[in-house]
Amino acid sequence: MSYHYEPYSREYMASGTQHKNRKVMPKGIIFHTMGRSFINKIRNELVQAGYIEEQLDNFTIDEHAAKRLNERPYLAGWMIGQTGLVFKLEEDQKKTLHAGSLKKSVYKKDNWRDWGRPLGGLGWMKHGRDPHRVYDWFDAWFGREFNPSKDFDWGRFPNQCIGIDLVPDQQGKYTLNQMSGAVDLVEYLVTEHNIPMDEYHIVTHGMAAPCERGTVMRRGKCIGVDWDPGRHWDHGRFLYEQLEIDNK
Ligand SMILES: [Zn+2]
Repeated sequence: MSYHYEPYSREYMASGTQHKNRKVMPKGIIFHTMGRSFINKIRNELVQAGYIEEQLDNFTIDEHAAKRLNERPYLAGWMIGQTGLVFKLEEDQKKTLHAGSLKKSVYKKDNWRDWGRPLGGLGWMKHGRDPHRVYDWFDAWFGREFNPSKDFDWGRFPNQCIGIDLVPDQQGKYTLNQMSGAVDLVEYLVTEHNIPMDEYHIVTHGMAAPCERGTVMRRGKCIGVDWDPGRHWDHGRFLYEQLEIDNK
C-alpha cells in the first residue's frame, strides 16, 4: 500500500546544503528543536523586514524558519511549524546532518554512563551523586542494560535516521496542531521506509545521545534535564496516546 502524503511546500528543499545519498534506508526517526534563540532570531529578522512584532502570526514565522533552516549546514529533513504544517526540507534518501555520530570511546563500553559529562565534565562528582543516577530518565525509558550505540538499529550513527525539527514558541512550548502534524508525518515515514513503530525507533535527540543531555541542581540533587526537543515535548504522550503505540 502506498501512502500519499503532501507536505506544505517542496520549494524549500535543499537550497542551502549538499547532502550525501544514503547507503541504507533511514532506520529511525529523531525529533529535535532548533531552540528558542533560533525562534527569537527569526522574529527579529521579520521585525527588521517591516513586520509588527505584536502582529506576527505563526504561519509567517514557520515559513521564515523553514527558509532559514534550509540554509544551515545542520538541519533535519523535516520541520513542523507551530501551525502544525509540515515542511519538507530534504529528500529522505539524502542523509542530513542533524545528530552527530556517537563517540566510540564513550558508548562502546557497558559502563558508558561513567563517561557522561554532565555539567561540563565530572560535574556529578562535585555534587556527590552516583553518576549512574544522573541517567534515571534514560533507564526509566529504555532499561539499565540499554546501550545507545549497541542497541539502536543505527548504532553509532544517529544520522542514519530521519530528523524532524519542531518549531518552539518563545517559551519553548509546542501546539496541539503541531502534535497532530507529527502524528501524520511519522505515520507516513514509518510506512514509506518500513521503520518499526515503537519507542526504539521513534526517539528524541536527547534519547539518541544521552551523554549530551544536560543536568541541573534541583532541591540539592543533580538530575538529568531534557535538552532536545526540551521538557515541553512529552514524547511518552506522543507515542502512547497520539500514535497509540503499545506501552511496554
Ligand atoms: Zn537535535
